[in-house]
Amino acid sequence: MLAPYTTLGLGGPARRFVEAATAEQVVSELAEADRTGERVLVLGGGSNVVVADDGFDGLVVRLASEGVSVSRDGEQVIVTVEAGESWEPLVARAVAEGWSGLECLSGIPGLVGATPIQNVGAYGQEVAQTIRCVRAYDRRTRHVVDLEARQCGFSYRDSAFKRDPGRHVVLAVTYALDVSGLSAPVAYKELAGRLGVEPGERVPLARAREAVLELRRSKGMVIDPADPDTRSAGSFFTNPVLGSEEAERLEARAPGHPRWELPGGSVKVPAAWLIEQAGFPKGYTLGPARISTKHTLALTNPTGEATAADLLALAREVRDGVREKFGVTLVNEPVLIGCALDADPE
Ligand SMILES: Cc1cc2nc3c(=O)[nH]c(=O)nc-3n(C[C@H](O)[C@H](O)[C@H](O)COP(=O)(O)OP(=O)(O)OC[C@H]3O[C@@H](n4cnc5c(N)ncnc54)[C@H](O)[C@@H]3O)c2cc1C
Repeated sequence: MLAPYTTLGLGGPARRFVEAATAEQVVSELAEADRTGERVLVLGGGSNVVVADDGFDGLVVRLASEGVSVSRDGEQVIVTVEAGESWEPLVARAVAEGWSGLECLSGIPGLVGATPIQNVGAYGQEVAQTIRCVRAYDRRTRHVVDLEARQCGFSYRDSAFKRDPGRHVVLAVTYALDVSGLSAPVAYKELAGRLGVEPGERVPLARAREAVLELRRSKGMVIDPADPDTRSAGSFFTNPVLGSEEAERLEARAPGHPRWELPGGSVKVPAAWLIEQAGFPKGYTLGPARISTKHTLALTNPTGEATAADLLALAREVRDGVREKFGVTLVNEPVLIGCALDADPE
């Protein structure tokens, strides 16, 4: 069963499952599967997937490659990390060593290799700001390639990897971090408030990390086996980014709604606000699936009794309710494996 390999605890069996301990093994497993036409699912920490109850009819390659190498480039430290390393210990090490640029990404589960896939981000920081290059196996050309950050097509919770799923398998990621005891300028209002500073100010790295961890814990966003709200895939929906026409339509339906103004006239709207205003409060349940009692954006499997079908039924109800009330269609952030929210009728 794949359920134990996911933070939601969902997912049926895999036809075949291997743990790849080196990048070479990852490449050889993928090359062989592609040669024989076997379907492949690359799995990291399973913290951003919903795997179908029927499981995966193919080969699951779970990344377990380890290794971190560090060098200097002027004022920066260059850290190259194997895809199978866990993310959170890397952030903890960066903070302890005085490497600035990852501190606001404290407490995010999963493995390093997945961070470029959806351009992992939180509290005003995202990995696109520090990734220098990504080493990947290109299943189309059957070559290992080194992609510079500009070739990765990063945008909000998105990348060229996510837009062309299955083509690249990330083998290692290189981050360029400033050697500084201070955080990057605090870009997120809530975090600045927690730290008692103005947005744009810098604080000692450890203080930034602690504040982020406190905020995340209060929202059930740090995995804790004792906290059923953390049996999730993090935020289930991305914050919708609306073009000017869509934004005007939403303003007509919800005058003065919260928003972040983006360059070019588009606006990003907090999905959590839309969900709550559409009548889905924290703790809302549908069968054994539940909206987190701490954060409206997280859909959870609190007792471990939900199926993927239960969770998706809740996701669908929320998405449809928001669309009906506000005319905005929420998009799921986790990758759905062998299952789907039904097609968008609009
Ligand atoms: C409690 C909680 C809080 C979270 N908070 C945040 C947050 O603040 N910000 C945020 O951005 N995300 C957050 N997430 C989502 C998730 O942790 C991240 O997206 C993380 O990077 C996923 O890593 P993973 O190794 O678990 O990936 P998985 O879930 O295993 O995989 C996710 C997708 O990436 C693909 N993939 C994984 N590894 C590779 C690889 N090496 N090469 C190619 N494809 C690969 C998989 O095939 C799958 O499609 C949160 C999740 C949870 C459970």
